[in-house]
Amino acid sequence: MKVLKFGGTSVGSPSRVKHVANLITNGEKKIVVLSAVSGTTNSLVALCEAYQKGDTAESEKIILQFREKYTGFINELYAGADEKYAKKASEKINEIIDLLASFSIEKFSNKTERIILAQGELMSTQLMQFYLESTGENSVLLPALEFMKTTEEEPDDEFIKENLQKQLTQYSDCPLFITQGYICKNEFGEIDNLKRGGSDYTASIIGKAAGSSEIQIWTDIDGMHNNDPRIVDKTFPVRELTFEEAAELAYFGAKILHPSSILPAQKANIPVKLLNTMEPEKEGTKISSEVKRERKIAAVAAKDGIVAIKIKSSRMLFAYGFLRKVFEVFEQFKTPIDVITTSEVAVSVTIDKTNHLEEILTELKIFGEVEFDQDHTIICVVGKFLQKDTRIAAQVISVLKDIPIRMISYGGSKNNITILIHKDYKVQALKALNEEIFLIEE
Ligand code: ADP
Ligand code: ASP
Ligand code: MG
Repeated sequence: MKVLKFGGTSVGSPSRVKHVANLITNGEKKIVVLSAVSGTTNSLVALCEAYQKGDTAESEKIILQFREKYTGFINELYAGADEKYAKKASEKINEIIDLLASFSIEKFSNKTERIILAQGELMSTQLMQFYLESTGENSVLLPALEFMKTTEEEPDDEFIKENLQKQLTQYSDCPLFITQGYICKNEFGEIDNLKRGGSDYTASIIGKAAGSSEIQIWTDIDGMHNNDPRIVDKTFPVRELTFEEAAELAYFGAKILHPSSILPAQKANIPVKLLNTMEPEKEGTKISSEVKRERKIAAVAAKDGIVAIKIKSSRMLFAYGFLRKVFEVFEQFKTPIDVITTSEVAVSVTIDKTNHLEEILTELKIFGEVEFDQDHTIICVVGKFLQKDTRIAAQVISVLKDIPIRMISYGGSKNNITILIHKDYKVQALKALNEEIFLIEE
């Protein structure tokens, strides 16, 4: 059974919902994961901010916008159908918007925030399910909150598999299942989410749990491009990527994929296809364990909001155990390190989770002199680099010759060259790389 995920723009208007309904109703058995209608999660985030600040005028404005947007959506989506569908949909959506309107500064907490953020996917899937019913399609809405569970922010694979299977076997004759991306319950039984862009991750987790033959991520572009199309002109789709390459690109900023979304598919060796909802006939990108791609450099991505920390200590000279102590500080504050470079007397690391920065810096000062640089960007050049490939690292560095480089990491894996620069040089770096490194092998 395939898993197909459609992102926010793919269900961003009534006509898009109808178009997706067409794509998914070909009789093949499948699970369809939907994001919230585009713009909805951003508005829910804004609503949370308004409640947190006690800005009633703003929260009321957002609620009104929701009412208007979804009333228009429902009127158009069910225009040609029996009016009972528009009525059922309005009741359901109004119930959700009433819930959203019921909060206030006093009732706002981290827990209610997560309840609010979950409503976008609950709305979009309900609208799709009623639409499919209105066209006579046999489909079932699977409540993700009954099977998608995380423990300490990691998917609880066994629980998910068991409870998803339970749901699927209950409707074994049904060819089409619709479910919510992004939302889950945590180990305390509270509503939670898989972080922004998390519907990709849902699709991959479900694919693994259901033993799928393929996971398809349908979005608004024809696959993973060789560079960030929001920043650079003349990017092109990369037809094939290995799981490792795709994971690096997702982790280091290629927004088309949630940073963790490749891992479940990779563990279960399920190919992932990135496809364009608006142009379904396009080939897109195939991510799998084996690629026949000739080109060694696959793509470039950039991740912002990076802090570089340097710890300098003469105690590092001829010492062992120094790095362990440094890493333990990051472990203590549950802060992952992305890039590391070392010299005999100093080590530099990067982090992007900065909520414990002050405490980390204080602890590190025990070991030596500590410096930190904010507002940096990781540029990640991803591909299949073998030790014998002589020109690649030299070319990448030479393209960036006019840009001050804070760190370089190469050889950690066969898949990336990672460079840390100040964020002000990001656009220049991505453009220069686009113009020059993709010519190397031609
Ligand atoms: P969805 O709402 O379908 O999940 P996203 O906005 O999360 O879609 O991801 C698709 C977007 O990712 C594209 O529209 C594109 O602007 C952006 N993007 C960033 N880097 C890349 C890349 N390397 N290849 C393709 N798209 C990228
Ligand atoms: N709706 C969520 C978001 O906007 C999840 C997703 O779209 O993948 O982040
Ligand atoms: Mg996305």
